Amino acid sequence: MCGIVGAVSQRNIVPVLIEGLKRLEYRGYDSCGVAVHQGGELKRARSTSRVAELDALSAEDGIASGTGIAHTRWATHGVPAVHNAHPHFSHGPNAAAATAGRIALVHNGIIENHDELRAELKGRGYEFLSQTDTEVIAHLVDHHYHGDLLEAVQQALTRLRGAYAIAVFCRDEPHRVIGAREGSPLVLGVGTDPAQGEHFLASDAMALAGVTDQIVYLEEGDVVDLQLGRYWISQLDAESGRYLPAERQVRTVHAHSGAAELGPYRHYMQKEIFEQPTAIANTLESITNISPELFGDGAFRIFKEVESVLILACGTSYYAGSTAKYWLESIAKIPTSVEIASEYRYRDSVPNPRTLVVTISQSGETADTLAALKHARAQGMLHTLTVCNVSTSAMVRECELAYITRAGAEIGVASTKAFTTHWWACSC
Ligand code: GLU
Repeated sequence: MCGIVGAVSQRNIVPVLIEGLKRLEYRGYDSCGVAVHQGGELKRARSTSRVAELDALSAEDGIASGTGIAHTRWATHGVPAVHNAHPHFSHGPNAAAATAGRIALVHNGIIENHDELRAELKGRGYEFLSQTDTEVIAHLVDHHYHGDLLEAVQQALTRLRGAYAIAVFCRDEPHRVIGAREGSPLVLGVGTDPAQGEHFLASDAMALAGVTDQIVYLEEGDVVDLQLGRYWISQLDAESGRYLPAERQVRTVHAHSGAAELGPYRHYMQKEIFEQPTAIANTLESITNISPELFGDGAFRIFKEVESVLILACGTSYYAGSTAKYWLESIAKIPTSVEIASEYRYRDSVPNPRTLVVTISQSGETADTLAALKHARAQGMLHTLTVCNVSTSAMVRECELAYITRAGAEIGVASTKAFTTHWWACSC
């Protein structure tokens, strides 16, 4: 899970972008970068080292602006190297043209049809300087750009298959950043200082802690247009094929980054092993008696209707689900299958509408699990429940029922307390 931060403001926003990346470091990354609109041009700094090094590098290069985007990358296409680090700039068509270096873009996710798009864009004269799938999006936006960045992004998105959260800006529109998401998380941070007219984008609310607590959780397919003093969200209307305005709730989110402090421990995994008793105690705290309603309104009726359980999860959550299968079959006597979410949607399976689809995800934003959930629903399995650690996450919003664990943020890649709490919740 990589990280994205973006902003438009009247003040120099680079320190906010860098601080945002630092708050997202816990997700892991192999390289990082920042790009701004400065002196009528795109400027960037990229590094395969830590965000602290990027901070020094951008200070050295005098990078400062009110409009910018930043990224921590976890490579999926192309080795971790500076030329593959985001932000990517458009190159072409025909490098000498006035349009060269017009679009800057960061991306979290995977573009599945990048080969086909790359061939098409090369044919149009675009030059590729990285091995990433991401670079095709920058070129595609440039190809569709005719003076309106929002329109160009909206048109480019209709060509993409896969998962993405993106933030993009254009040399010719100095005070504008566009964000969009499908399958990867992205939030809008609504600025609270009218004098700055600023608005933000980030992979999660924690990246904006101390900057704004006014958060909009963007929904699948949302495109958001940030400008000084205004923002505008739109969503593709399947029937008309046009983008229409979308109303989204602004929530007050008290994100804090205390979890990212190591305290007396040698490393995060050790810290989190010791936090397990508290995580279980916190998860149990709100329970007065074990009843279906623990999972939400209507759970009793839904549980009565279902005749099997399908658990969809990745990594450690998959192991928690595999443990739950033993109990569900031996105690509840309900047939249970567990699927690795990233595989499930790529094979033919036999759907049963009387199945309860259970997704397990620590963040509630795991792209493969969200995609698997969507696939299960498209197959007619409409009863859904999530076991998840973040009550404001996409997974909770998209499932009929939810059980929220209270493990707190987990930074160690090998899961400990999230596993313990998921495993416990599944046994309910
Ligand atoms: N697929 C993109 C790349 O390899 C984005 C990876 C990420 O989400 O960090 O550059």
